[in-house]
Amino acid sequence: MSENCLFCKIAKGEIPSHKVYEDDLVFAFKDINPQAPVHVVIIPKKHVASLGDVSEQDKEVLGHVQFVAAKLAKTFPELKNGYRLISNCGSDGGQTVHHLHYHLLGGRVFGWPPG
Ligand code: AMP
Ligand code: ZN
Repeated sequence: MSENCLFCKIAKGEIPSHKVYEDDLVFAFKDINPQAPVHVVIIPKKHVASLGDVSEQDKEVLGHVQFVAAKLAKTFPELKNGYRLISNCGSDGGQTVHHLHYHLLGGRVFGWPPG
């Protein structure tokens, strides 16, 4: 838990969210400003500022987040034809909340390259 971290507070239930999944290691909730018909944010419960700040001991949770994303994706019919899983890292990556998180997005066709 990091003092004054929005996503730590969401994971602890101190700030309300629309939870879609929770286990010992991760918490997932609907994005407040969805960029696609399905937009879920998946976070490790442990506070890590970004993908650029992970250490050796975070390997298990990093793998687990992707596994949960794949499992969650199967529960949304809108994602049957595919989806995107994105982690914005740092200012060039467009990260605005400094607690590592992954966006699970789908229900529309995305362009490439990203903006
Ligand atoms: P990023 O820009 O990659 O750091 O993503 C942060 C995401 O958190 C954005 O998509 C925001 O819409 C989302 N967000 C911010 N505050 C909340 C909140 N209280 N509940 C749900 N999602 C939020
Ligand atoms: Zn945090």
